[in-house]
Amino acid sequence: MPATLPNVLDDVAAEILELKKKVGATILAHYYQNGEIQELADITGDSLKLAREATKVDSPVIVFCGVLFMAETAKMLNPAKKVLLPDLQAGCSLVDSAPPDKLARYQEMLRENGRKFQTVTYINSSAKVKALSDWIVTSGNAEEIVRRVPDEYEILFVPDKHLGRYLQDVTGRKMILWDGSCMVHEIFSVQDLLKLKKQRPEAVTIAHPECPQNVLEHADYVGGTEAMIRHVGQFAEPMTFLVATEPNMMWQLQSRFPQHTYLPVPGVTCSCNNCPHMALNTLEKIRDCLRDGQPEIVWQPEFDRAKDVLAKSLLNPPTTAPVLPVGD
Ligand code: SF4
Repeated sequence: MPATLPNVLDDVAAEILELKKKVGATILAHYYQNGEIQELADITGDSLKLAREATKVDSPVIVFCGVLFMAETAKMLNPAKKVLLPDLQAGCSLVDSAPPDKLARYQEMLRENGRKFQTVTYINSSAKVKALSDWIVTSGNAEEIVRRVPDEYEILFVPDKHLGRYLQDVTGRKMILWDGSCMVHEIFSVQDLLKLKKQRPEAVTIAHPECPQNVLEHADYVGGTEAMIRHVGQFAEPMTFLVATEPNMMWQLQSRFPQHTYLPVPGVTCSCNNCPHMALNTLEKIRDCLRDGQPEIVWQPEFDRAKDVLAKSLLNPPTTAPVLPVGD
């Protein structure tokens, strides 16, 4: 019954707020969660911001509204906290594209061939893959980390080939690129983007670096979600933005900068491009995980090594880090 839906959601939201207080929980939500979840969250952000914010939370429980690798990251950086993920099935196509056994075999082959390399891994990866890595990057710190890898090493970049290729362009570092991609950013339609640009010649196109090159080359600005927020925030007068990333990002942009118009760049197979993994989290599941204290992220043996790589990469930025135009 559509007419009663808002009331039902209001009731669930009220239950969540009550349970949150009772158990002592902080709700973290990624910008790709739907608007009602972002609205309810204590902290919203991209992967880097949420990973860093998770270390400052003083409540005993963290409810992570995002996908599994993000909740695992929060647990690894906060071993003493109870970290809950509303739906344990919330995965990621990038994680799936880098099976740890396959990566370990590939690294071994490179070593046998005398290649001297460091493995730079996108945070969208399993804990086992993180444990096989030298560095972990997000789209927010990737350029800075790539510049920290000493010149005498080749870089094996895992698993997102589009982000890796983009980083090659901006840093000038040649990389060995793993063949992985995000199912959401992979399918933007260049034809539809060009059609939209023709209809709205005044519009500014902003695109996430997980998009393929043929989309990025038509963008006026390339950056991760935090960088998009900073970029859009520079425009005071009403503008139109064509947005090439997961469409829930537009909820965040709309709530911060309501003077602008945001239009999604359509996908080739549908007009929405919503991430099906992020969509598994719902208000009802958030309420249930607070009530039941599960699903909980349980410490795994591979977390021991992965947490050190994460902490070195995400929590210890060099004091001399350059101010970069791309990020988050
Ligand atoms: S949007 Fe892409 S990278 Fe992000 S969680 Fe979904 S599948 Fe993974």
